Amino acid sequence: MAERVIVTLACSECKRRNYHFARGKKKEFKLELKKFCRACGHQTLHRETK
Ligand SMILES: [Zn+2]
Repeated sequence: MAERVIVTLACSECKRRNYHFARGKKKEFKLELKKFCRACGHQTLHRETK
Protein backbone atom coordinates (compact mmCIF):
# COMPACT_ATOMS: atom_id res chain seq x y z
CA MET A 1 0.00 0.00 0.00
CA ALA A 2 1.50 3.29 -1.06
CA GLU A 3 1.58 5.94 1.59
CA ARG A 4 0.39 9.31 0.55
CA VAL A 5 0.72 12.68 2.13
CA ILE A 6 -1.54 15.58 1.35
CA VAL A 7 0.52 18.66 0.79
CA THR A 8 -0.98 22.09 1.23
CA LEU A 9 0.44 25.12 -0.52
CA ALA A 10 -0.18 28.49 1.07
CA CYS A 11 0.25 31.87 -0.55
CA SER A 12 3.27 33.62 0.92
CA GLU A 13 1.55 37.00 0.68
CA CYS A 14 -1.96 36.49 2.06
CA LYS A 15 -1.35 33.10 3.74
CA ARG A 16 -4.41 31.56 2.16
CA ARG A 17 -4.21 27.85 1.50
CA ASN A 18 -4.99 27.60 -2.14
CA TYR A 19 -3.65 24.30 -3.36
CA HIS A 20 -3.66 20.74 -2.13
CA PHE A 21 -2.24 17.67 -3.69
CA ALA A 22 -1.06 14.23 -2.81
CA ARG A 23 2.45 13.01 -3.18
CA GLY A 24 4.70 10.25 -1.93
CA LYS A 25 6.06 10.33 1.55
CA LYS A 26 9.63 11.22 0.65
CA LYS A 27 10.45 14.71 1.77
CA GLU A 28 13.49 15.74 -0.14
CA PHE A 29 12.76 19.41 -0.37
CA LYS A 30 10.21 22.01 0.57
CA LEU A 31 7.83 22.80 -2.20
CA GLU A 32 7.80 26.34 -3.45
CA LEU A 33 5.80 27.09 -6.53
CA LYS A 34 4.59 30.14 -8.38
CA LYS A 35 0.84 29.81 -8.47
CA PHE A 36 -2.06 32.06 -9.19
CA CYS A 37 -3.69 33.31 -5.99
CA ARG A 38 -7.31 34.40 -6.30
CA ALA A 39 -7.12 36.56 -3.21
CA CYS A 40 -4.06 38.45 -4.44
CA GLY A 41 -5.20 38.48 -8.06
CA HIS A 42 -1.80 37.55 -9.44
CA GLN A 43 0.86 34.89 -9.26
CA THR A 44 2.58 34.58 -5.94
CA LEU A 45 5.01 32.21 -4.33
CA HIS A 46 3.24 29.37 -2.60
CA ARG A 47 4.95 27.38 0.07
CA GLU A 48 4.33 24.02 1.54
CA THR A 49 2.59 24.16 4.89
CA LYS A 50 0.98 21.68 7.26
ZN1 LIG B 1 -2.43 35.42 -1.92
